[in-house]
Amino acid sequence: MEFPIFKTKTQGTKRNFNLNNPKEREKYFNFKAGREIKKLRNYFRKGNTFVAYLLGKKNSGKGTYSKMFSEVIGPERIDHFSIGDMIRGVDKELKDRKKKKELVEFLGKNYRGWSSVKELISLLEKRSTKTLLPTELILVLVKREIGKRKKKTVFVDGFPRDLDQINFALFFRDLIGYRDDSDFFVLINVPESIIDERIKYRVVCPTCQTSRNLKLLPTSKVGYDSKRKEFYLLCDNPKCQETRMVRKEGDAAGIKPIKDRLKKDEKLINQALSLCGIPKVLLRNSVPKKMASNFVDDYEITPEYYYEWDDKKKKVVVREKPLVVLDDAGEPSYSLLPPPVVVSLIKQITDVLDL
Ligand SMILES: [Zn+2]
Repeated sequence: MEFPIFKTKTQGTKRNFNLNNPKEREKYFNFKAGREIKKLRNYFRKGNTFVAYLLGKKNSGKGTYSKMFSEVIGPERIDHFSIGDMIRGVDKELKDRKKKKELVEFLGKNYRGWSSVKELISLLEKRSTKTLLPTELILVLVKREIGKRKKKTVFVDGFPRDLDQINFALFFRDLIGYRDDSDFFVLINVPESIIDERIKYRVVCPTCQTSRNLKLLPTSKVGYDSKRKEFYLLCDNPKCQETRMVRKEGDAAGIKPIKDRLKKDEKLINQALSLCGIPKVLLRNSVPKKMASNFVDDYEITPEYYYEWDDKKKKVVVREKPLVVLDDAGEPSYSLLPPPVVVSLIKQITDVLDL
């Protein structure tokens, strides 16, 4: 099944927005999806929630899209939840004697499966990044996490992670006590060439963990390190006071080390696409170049950014040009900035919830 191209182009009044600027982004969302945003806020205000399972290849933007969605609709009622972060949290608990004891007690009371609690703890402690944890263990840990979040809407990122877990996802809301609320899949389609660029140029804020990209998604402030002759981004989250964002080790290799994982993710997405009975929101990141002008506004397309240092004015000059990549079918394509993808997310969720 193909991921349809979502039309975010507006007819009539021409307006331009700088989507990297948080204030303009807010105006943009109200301009393009104001009605739907109101409906969703109203839905949450009445105490309704939903569970959305984010499925996309590694680095497809799951976190970016769901966090931006909650930023627009109301962060106090929506949580983003990643299985990876949860497991890292458990790793930390295991190093603290008191917390480890609590975890052992929790598992003793709540876990049902084929391993003893002792075996589970040993599995967690000796785990390498390749070890797959039993689905029953993941489930009970997810249940615990959601319990901490009371009755909030949750975007679950990283579950299901394997084909056998898809079946569990279908009954997930029953398992966690969300019985009356909606749940649906959010499937994300991004060309691997884009994922490659995202990894190669990504930077992270050490304070708030926000992820950006030197080439594709800069912040509003760029700095220049004259000693190392390199440009860097400054986090524009007001709480971070312009923390310098940093690169992660190993990112220079791009998608090479994760090829197998990407293949597995693709299988998983195809499996989810063929499911009946559960609603699906389909997010598409790329638009074939030849069709772009009918579907999106120019400023919604990801440009490629590059920088120059103006030695006279002592400041960084930000320049941009259109970024064209080949999608997975070999078609020259543009990549969309996160906001138009989030507009399609907002509108499709409104439809799924029948608002
Ligand atoms: Zn930050």
